[in-house]
Amino acid sequence: MGKFDLKLIGGQLVIDLGQTANDRFRHRGYNGKPSIYDIDEICVPAIGTVELSEGQLKKIELAYTNGHKCAYCEEYADKVRPSPFMADMGASMCKGCWDRTKEEYAACNDEHIGDFEDFPHWKEGAE
Ligand SMILES: [Zn+2]
Repeated sequence: MGKFDLKLIGGQLVIDLGQTANDRFRHRGYNGKPSIYDIDEICVPAIGTVELSEGQLKKIELAYTNGHKCAYCEEYADKVRPSPFMADMGASMCKGCWDRTKEEYAACNDEHIGDFEDFPHWKEGAE
């Protein structure tokens, strides 16, 4: 659990998560997307505080670090793999969505898209 300041920056609510790991003049500010703010931009009076549970904080951390956004549920997951749908080539899918899709495919089409874990190399790089 942690308490964080809620700021209003450019008409947008931002959770001030504090300094970035390698630059104390920049803060991580979560506004629904992982963003970085310059210190003079984010150092405005807080309009409130938010409490984040460990689970919520972990999701946000994932968004900043090695997290990948699933194109289907729009949640950040620590691992995604390319979509099994040919039409969606390049889209990323998390394990939750993969498992649901897998069940649907097996039930409707008697087709098997394989296990999520079978993907030989995880996608690297940006979200
Ligand atoms: Zn998903």
